Amino acid sequence: MSISNETIEKIRRSNCATDDTFFQAVEEVLESIKPVLDSDPIYERHSIVDRLTTPDREFKFKVVWMDDNQNIQVNTGYRVQFNNALGPYKGGLRFHPSVNSGILKFLGFEQIFKNSLTGLPIGGGKGGSDFDPKGKSDFEIMKFCSSFMTELHKYIGPRIDVPAGDIGVGAREIGYLFGEYKKITSSYEGILTGKPYMFGGSLMRPEATGYGCVYFTDEMLKFAGKDGFKDRICTVSGAGNVALHTIEKLYALGAKPVTCTDSRGTIYDSRGVNLELLKELKLVRRASLEEYCTVHSEAIYTKVEDYPQGGHEVWNIPCDCAFPSATQNELTKVDAQNLVDNGCISVSEGANMPSTPTAIQIIQDNGVLFAPAKAANAGGVAVSEFEMSQNASMTKWTYEKVDKMLEQTMRAICKRVHLTAEEYGVAGNYVDGANIAGFKKVADAMIAEGI
Ligand code: NDP
Repeated sequence: MSISNETIEKIRRSNCATDDTFFQAVEEVLESIKPVLDSDPIYERHSIVDRLTTPDREFKFKVVWMDDNQNIQVNTGYRVQFNNALGPYKGGLRFHPSVNSGILKFLGFEQIFKNSLTGLPIGGGKGGSDFDPKGKSDFEIMKFCSSFMTELHKYIGPRIDVPAGDIGVGAREIGYLFGEYKKITSSYEGILTGKPYMFGGSLMRPEATGYGCVYFTDEMLKFAGKDGFKDRICTVSGAGNVALHTIEKLYALGAKPVTCTDSRGTIYDSRGVNLELLKELKLVRRASLEEYCTVHSEAIYTKVEDYPQGGHEVWNIPCDCAFPSATQNELTKVDAQNLVDNGCISVSEGANMPSTPTAIQIIQDNGVLFAPAKAANAGGVAVSEFEMSQNASMTKWTYEKVDKMLEQTMRAICKRVHLTAEEYGVAGNYVDGANIAGFKKVADAMIAEGI
């Protein structure tokens, strides 16, 4: 069976016209798995493509809360339970004004394959709200999280669906959500991951996605016969959880990360970015990156609006290895060409789908190593599953143990993706390798479980 335009059209018809990021993700996967579908009719016989591209269920609900000025505010909450062939639904909650059902379907769909690649017993889901945490007081965040959980608690459970954090949802929000769940249900169970350590969180969860992305890239460089990170110049976008821990691990392995970005601009510090200052600005004070230059006047700050359309300053800075770690579609074809022209040897996606399809094509056509998000950023969900295991067995693992398991998991994913690409005649193509390896495991489980 090959993927016809008819299949794509059918998927478009059964979703909203505005679900473009979802269609983008589906088309990429379907293109990659063509050889698997063509080589074995069993997948067509079991309608696996139709079943895999349709979420098991989607919840949409009203979230009403009161702000500090006693005004009543209304937001929309969502949870998409996409596929649980391999285990309970698992995937983060995103609080950002851009959140809608299309974005969450894209993220939930990607999560199925990512979770499959980890080799751990977890299915795929995603959720969130169009609530914007920026500029809100702690009390307002708490009120919103409480109201959000009064609805969400109906759909989740340690063996059903275990959400985690994502953009706009860190340990603070997870703490408030957990507290409300406990209050409503009188039950102390591991229904969320990314919890603070003092009440059931795993050590290393905050670091996991960024560290994992660097471990993955280190392994990918080795497979390509290239030396590791020592003295390599790296560019990183984002200044949140993923970006800051990517920078931290890059320093630990001897690299020099020289950039980071937020939604307003880019910092370029050719001597290597000051991680302590970044943590203070973004994690503690939640301030703009522009303030970095008040301490380091030699660094260059470029506002988003001061950079020509179609590209981003951060990808125009010469580097050996690039780590897009902010948001979807932040690396365009102009950026990809700049990276290639400046001699970049690898691009690793810390964020979910940060590169546009054309950008990926340019990167791969020019022999630059490319690590897709569903493989490279799987470290976060892997450690989330470790947190579920610790909660279920009422134990606490050491930092060293979790780090070692994370590193082994990421190197094993890289090997699986690499070997799968070789097996299907597309050696070095980590996009196809990841999609095929992720797909086969889920599809075979779906067939074994019946309809
Ligand atoms: P955070 O909210 O902690 O940080 C996101 C950062 O990216 C912020 O600094 C934000 O800027 C910046 N940013 C947002 N939009 C843009 C933009 N258009 N251009 C430049 N910078 C931008 O999120 P995370 O670090 O947790 O997540 C980042 C990405 O990684 C997302 O795609 C997420 O889905 C993915 N991911 C996260 C995982 C995790 O464990 N946290 C796991 C797997 C994937 P500002 O400070 O101005 O808001």
